[in-house]
Amino acid sequence: MATPRVTVRPKQSLGQNFLIDDNIARNIAKSLKLQSEDIVIEIGPGQGALTRHLTSSPKRLIAVEIDARAVEQLRSTISAKNVEIIHQDFLDISLKSISKKYDAKIRIVGNIPYHLTSSILFKIFDEREAISDITLTMQREVAQRITGSPRTKEYGILSVFSQFYGTPKLLFNVSPNCFYPKPKVTSSVIQLFMRDELPGDVNLKLFHSIVKTVFGKRRKTLRNGLLYMPFEKEVLDIIQKNTDPVFIKRPEELSINDFILLTNYIQRLLR
Ligand code: SAM
Repeated sequence: MATPRVTVRPKQSLGQNFLIDDNIARNIAKSLKLQSEDIVIEIGPGQGALTRHLTSSPKRLIAVEIDARAVEQLRSTISAKNVEIIHQDFLDISLKSISKKYDAKIRIVGNIPYHLTSSILFKIFDEREAISDITLTMQREVAQRITGSPRTKEYGILSVFSQFYGTPKLLFNVSPNCFYPKPKVTSSVIQLFMRDELPGDVNLKLFHSIVKTVFGKRRKTLRNGLLYMPFEKEVLDIIQKNTDPVFIKRPEELSINDFILLTNYIQRLLR
């Protein structure tokens, strides 16, 4: 199967770097090990370079594309009965209602527009109960942040949330030569299975807010970073006086479990 010639003029504003290497498209599709009962959503199918390798197995493949030109092109080239091409912004679709409609958890795949990587991931985490796993091609630097370990420069907000909600794995890198137009950076394919059970029982809103705030002040110790949380003065005072050595650490030194313990400690102070 040859990769389709790029006929849709790529728009940078839509993050359009089309995959032109058929082996890579095949390897991404293979990594999903698709089954006949699978409900799959592809984010940004573009001209269908990857889509064409995803159609044979699943029960349903829903390709969500924002660009009308690509949708038209796809509809004229892909006619498999199990494929639905939706002209919409992925960020606006309800994953929960699709999951409910098919009574199944959704599998997500895509060579995604790089500028939307964080928004896409946060949408997926937000609707995690509807999702089984995600396989995404993204900028290598972002993939390294998703899989990053404590005490490395990559470890940050994306690492904590990705590893809290799922089990991310970097599958392989993809050279800029595999895309048209050629991006400036190397890409990576990551696969993340959502956890059935989260690694800790925690107030999610508070957990998110603490992680985002302290990593926003990455160079500060936890004690100083936490001063930026909108807590009452008494709560901030108690935190300032706490002599636990965790408070003199910087956020990148904390494991996911440390963040869970910290959130639960602060939650108790807020009661
Ligand atoms: N999957 C194709 C491929 O590998 O050749 C295209 C990949 S290209 C990096 C990203 C695709 O996402 C483009 O087709 C672009 O139009 C589409 N896209 C951009 N923003 C989108 C959004 N918010 N919702 C759905 N698709 C979007």
